[in-house]
Amino acid sequence: MPKLNIVEKARTPKNERRCQRCGKEIFAGEKYYWWSNRVGFGKQMKSKKTVRCENHKPESWEMSGNPSVLEREENISDWSAQAAELESAEDAKELLGEIATYAEERQQEEEEKADNIRDGFGHDTFQSEELDEKAQAWDEFHTLAADAAESGLPAYPVFEDPDELDAEDDPEYFQDAEEEWEEYRELLYQAVENVIEEMP
Ligand SMILES: [Zn+2]
Repeated sequence: MPKLNIVEKARTPKNERRCQRCGKEIFAGEKYYWWSNRVGFGKQMKSKKTVRCENHKPESWEMSGNPSVLEREENISDWSAQAAELESAEDAKELLGEIATYAEERQQEEEEKADNIRDGFGHDTFQSEELDEKAQAWDEFHTLAADAAESGLPAYPVFEDPDELDAEDDPEYFQDAEEEWEEYRELLYQAVENVIEEMP
């Protein structure tokens, strides 16, 4: 069980700090909670920090009781946060690739578990069939992520990136560029979010 850290007065954060339950931003001087878990498998294993505001003190089960539920929740919030920051289709492809790889690993994991049960009993059981179904769901999710990366992303904007432009030069063009790029980023976000929502 990870140790729960209680910070009575948050210091000025390097990056924005938000409660991962309600999304509230935690400002300097406020109380908050955090803990870290190990998530992922094999080489993908890493330590993952979770932050909660003072209204959402975590229950012990949220911290360690059911790792797959916890990991699922953390993956979703992590991927969604990354999706909201996407600047280009290349970034979106990379994120979708990461999601697809994760799905593949989960699929293999469920298949191995099913095979072990089958080998043990010498035939299929209710459990092995259930694991086969899970593997199938991960396979479908993998296809969804791969397809979105391949053909589900919006066309590159016609206007130049407003970050590269001087608004004074041509205010009208700048405004059009800003609108188009905002829409582009929104579509990138939606494309990834639509995939995440289908996670088994
Ligand atoms: Zn909260």
